[in-house]
Amino acid sequence: MQICFASHNDNKVKEMNEIIPEGFSIVGLNELGIQEDIAETGDTLEENSKIKASYVYSRHKMPVFADDSGLLVDSLNGEPGVVSARYAGPERDDHKNMDLLLQKLGDNADRSAEFQTVISFIDERGELKQFKGSISGTILKEKRGSGGFGYDPIFQPNGYEQTFAELPSDVKNRISHRAKAVQSFLEYLHQKNG
Ligand code: IMP
Repeated sequence: MQICFASHNDNKVKEMNEIIPEGFSIVGLNELGIQEDIAETGDTLEENSKIKASYVYSRHKMPVFADDSGLLVDSLNGEPGVVSARYAGPERDDHKNMDLLLQKLGDNADRSAEFQTVISFIDERGELKQFKGSISGTILKEKRGSGGFGYDPIFQPNGYEQTFAELPSDVKNRISHRAKAVQSFLEYLHQKNG
């Protein structure tokens, strides 16, 4: 069964193709000839990933999944959330985003936060299923480490002494919000296949 991954990122598509169960293959938006960016107009990760998957399903009537991730900081009422990528502006600058977050948090003692990923899958009959992964941690007062991307240098997962940007990538990729959401989606596909 061919499944579309509603992403223009060929690396993400390739990565999914390597871990998808036998019997499934993944095509990305570039391969389907969908060039336009799908507007993420929702207020939640659930809505945005659903919007992206629905867009492809309504045009191609094929099974499709889309993901959406973000960082939710408790004492900022879940900010930056759905606007994580463009928190400090449309230029999507990781350092400006982190600086704004650190400035808003100031000396706040409650620095708890959670990374979340939601995958929305629409099957061949148009039925929606959502899979969620999350990891809890703390927002540090300063950036530490040079690996990863996004908010990694200021996020320290609970139970670890290092930030996501200091941890080896294989460790991050095993424990991350994204890994957990992908894991439960793959388990579902395995069952569907069996
Ligand atoms: P996306 O939905 O995967 O594109 O993620 C949206 C934004 O959330 C990214 O541009 C980052 O700012 C932030 N983000 C998501 N996942 C991570 C992560 O694993 N580390 C750091 N930042 C992340």
